[in-house]
Amino acid sequence: MTNISAISTKHPKGLYPLFFTEMWERFGYYLMLGILFLYMIDGTNGGLGFTDGNANDVYGTYIALVYLTPFVGGLLADRVFGYRKTIVFGGFLMALGYLTLSQPGETAFYTALGLIIVGNGFFKPNISTLLGNLYNKDQYKHLKDKGYNIFYMGINIGSFFCNFIAAWLRNEYGWGYAFAAAGIGMIIGLITFAANYKLYDEFDVVKPSTAEDLTLTQIFATIFLPAIGFAFIGYFSAAWLNTTPFFGSQTSDAFLFACVPVIYFYLQTYLKAKDGEKRALGTLLYIYLVVVIFWAIFHQNGNVLTSWAENNTTRDMPASLVNVSDQVGMVQKVTNADGSVSNLISTELFQSINPFFVVLLTPLVIALFTWLASRKREPSTAAKIAWGLFITGLSTLVMIAAVYSSNNGEIKTSAMWLVGTYAVITIGELFLSPMGLSLVSKLSPPRLTALMMGGWFLSTSIGNKFAGILGHLGSGNTDKSIVFWINFGGATLSALLLFVMLKRFNAIIKERTGGL
Ligand code: GLN
Repeated sequence: MTNISAISTKHPKGLYPLFFTEMWERFGYYLMLGILFLYMIDGTNGGLGFTDGNANDVYGTYIALVYLTPFVGGLLADRVFGYRKTIVFGGFLMALGYLTLSQPGETAFYTALGLIIVGNGFFKPNISTLLGNLYNKDQYKHLKDKGYNIFYMGINIGSFFCNFIAAWLRNEYGWGYAFAAAGIGMIIGLITFAANYKLYDEFDVVKPSTAEDLTLTQIFATIFLPAIGFAFIGYFSAAWLNTTPFFGSQTSDAFLFACVPVIYFYLQTYLKAKDGEKRALGTLLYIYLVVVIFWAIFHQNGNVLTSWAENNTTRDMPASLVNVSDQVGMVQKVTNADGSVSNLISTELFQSINPFFVVLLTPLVIALFTWLASRKREPSTAAKIAWGLFITGLSTLVMIAAVYSSNNGEIKTSAMWLVGTYAVITIGELFLSPMGLSLVSKLSPPRLTALMMGGWFLSTSIGNKFAGILGHLGSGNTDKSIVFWINFGGATLSALLLFVMLKRFNAIIKERTGGL
């Protein structure tokens, strides 16, 4: 039984250092991501000069791998290193990655992406797990969803500001300076975390594994080696069968094949678990499956929506703002065919719309849930996720309208369509993404929390790959609305798949959390 008098209305004090650490880490991460696609397709100003199709593939594979590694980072933290050391190590690798990315050329480019992929694997699941651990005491348990909503706001303050710095540095000084700024952001994050290291002593304990858990050697033999083998088979299988790649490119095939042993590992973890644990893990795995489509849609922000902003949106800087924004590097100057110069809003600034709405809407969403809670009507964490999927479907309708208003891309259309679609999808995101983290923290057996956090990010990873695949499909299609219709169908279907299971899942969540 919970002792009502011990229930806190304040959040644990460890929340804020984690909030700021993650704010700075995401500042770097999204600074890099906001310009990565543009850097790849830029053939004239010091970029890599890739084709659109190629840039989509690299983008998709990269953001897929960035979220694949958290399962390894989570596992190592759970079993061997604990959360804090793993976070510091991951942050260090990411900082190194951004600094490497600031160097020109493809060798530096791919080396840097590798460092960031591994670094994020160590950092991301573990900071998210550590946050949940702060709320495992009875007095804080009921605040866990809100804690994650607040943490998520920190993430997005970082991702809001970074694009202005990116635009300024890359327009005024070049790509390298912008990527270096991402590295500096990560270093500030690391210092913030290190300065508060002691605060997390009691929340950072390595859990002994049980007899059923695989040892690290077994994991290497049964997951890594097969994953590499599967990737190899995936890469060549279309060629062996004399057909075109199944998922648009050989790298996509390789990635999706490589996921098979990893998914199999999670299934086995579920199958071996007992009773309550089994039900809880089953709930999580089902939810991981349905949210894949959310990430496939959401992460089209970096390719599909970025190219919509770049090519199909009126980006003229309002005349009254041209001078001041030009001075701070927010303007892209484009020479038209007739020799006149247009002052355009720099494309990556569109990446700030989503985080802007996160920061703006989080307090409203929290207020809504608090009000519902006061009437004993707060939806369960799983129900919030289902609503998030449904709302995501609605956001894609806005883009379909945008395509119509542009005459299928023939004329440039208002930037307000993008603002509108981002507003709606952000509401969906706030119902889904922080709630996913919270649900993992609520339902995972403690010895597997970071591993299961890795599972949550695995669904981001697979979804991200599909964002690249869908982007590639869209870039080769004359009907500009096709991708958005696929998005709509997928989001609505996945919402339904979750709504039908809610009753069962709510009972399981209640059983595991005692209703808190
Ligand atoms: N914006 C979120 C973050 O960066 C998205 C997380 C995710 O992809 N699952 O943390």
